[in-house]
Amino acid sequence: MDFSFTEEQNAIRDTAKRFAVEHLLPNYQKREQEGKMSRSAVKAMGELGLIGVELPEAFGGLGADCQTCGVIMEEISRGDFNMASIQIMAGLNGQMICDHAHADLAHEWVPRIISGDALVAIALTEPHAGSDAVNLKLEAQKSGDKYLLNGEKTSISLATQADVTIVFARTSDDGARGVTAFLVPMDLPGISTSAFNDVGGKSIGRGSIFFDQVEVPAKNIMGDIGQGFKIVMHGFDYSRVLIGMQCLGAAMQSVEETWAYVGEREAFGRPIAKFQGVSFPLAEAETDLAMGRFLCYEALWRRDQNLPHTKEAAMCKWWAPKKAHDILIQCVLLHGHAGWGDDYPHQQRMRDVMGLQIGDGTAQIQKMVIAREVAGKVTVSHV
Ligand SMILES: Cc1cc2nc3c(=O)[nH]c(=O)nc-3n(C[C@H](O)[C@H](O)[C@H](O)COP(=O)(O)OP(=O)(O)OC[C@H]3O[C@@H](n4cnc5c(N)ncnc54)[C@H](O)[C@@H]3O)c2cc1C
Repeated sequence: MDFSFTEEQNAIRDTAKRFAVEHLLPNYQKREQEGKMSRSAVKAMGELGLIGVELPEAFGGLGADCQTCGVIMEEISRGDFNMASIQIMAGLNGQMICDHAHADLAHEWVPRIISGDALVAIALTEPHAGSDAVNLKLEAQKSGDKYLLNGEKTSISLATQADVTIVFARTSDDGARGVTAFLVPMDLPGISTSAFNDVGGKSIGRGSIFFDQVEVPAKNIMGDIGQGFKIVMHGFDYSRVLIGMQCLGAAMQSVEETWAYVGEREAFGRPIAKFQGVSFPLAEAETDLAMGRFLCYEALWRRDQNLPHTKEAAMCKWWAPKKAHDILIQCVLLHGHAGWGDDYPHQQRMRDVMGLQIGDGTAQIQKMVIAREVAGKVTVSHV
């Protein structure tokens, strides 16, 4: 067992860390107020080779392992939790496009995603189908060499900002086997979007995407007809780990900043760090963060080794966002009244992280996955 990072991973961590500290951290809260991604910051990350490192070199990636992407996630998220969603979107969607989209389309889009010139979204959820995504209804009807898309996707990250989206649509009534993935440029006629006013994650933004007789060439089908669910579930086994890393990264940054604060702030004539009521929550946070990192890196390592990791990914997805959120609440509280305002970023991190207890599948759904992986179908309610 080797717990060390490679020279390449350390080098890329240094690059990501420098960029995060110098360019992201100072404007984390400003970007929330602007309510959108900074395209110039995304482009700068792309130029530094920090997006889609795990994607094949043929498409502009580095062909790195998934653990290397985890290293980048931690550092970018320390600078700006929301910006780290770019790595997740690129890793999750970019891999699906490389593996399953028509080669022409993959070569058109993936290099642009990696360079930071294009934003990619994933549209699975519908107003009536979130946890129960198999129940989705957005219709894709064949019409010659095209498909006509009609319906609504909702709760979609980057809905109003994405340049291209992987859309899951119903091509037959055959349950999960009736769902097909389409690569859909967002400037096609008949597509419109609306934005939500969320508690956190405001620079990523969520919204609905409406499809009104949207003509999509059959060439834009990803994989085979009816394979949409299979494709996305393998992808979720990756994004769920990266989300864990993203949430832990934000909490690590706040814990580090809070240690500094409690070492300076005085009450009862001494630094508050001298009170165990103050230092112990941070010591507990350090313990949880260390445990969470081990879990996430092990899951990424398993993916790199082509070992099963569905269970581990689900563990990362429910546990890390919850722990990170709990830790961030402590960081807010340990700042006293000062924490309850925008002088410090902890309240924003707390709100940003909380959303990812829901996005990409709730804790209940992840626990169902873990139970099924360990004990089999006896634990599945709908079988
Ligand atoms: C920040 C954020 C980003 C998101 N980004 C995207 C995106 O980019 N693309 C996309 O497609 N979707 C996205 N989503 C949607 C997200 O994936 C869904 O919200 C999520 O899967 C839950 O679905 P739901 O909201 O319909 O909740 P519901 O399915 O209605 O569930 C409501 C509650 O019931 C619980 N529940 C449901 N079924 C069960 C069960 N069988 N057993 C126990 N409890 C159950 C759930 O855990 C939850 O607590 C995002 C959501 C958020 C909050």
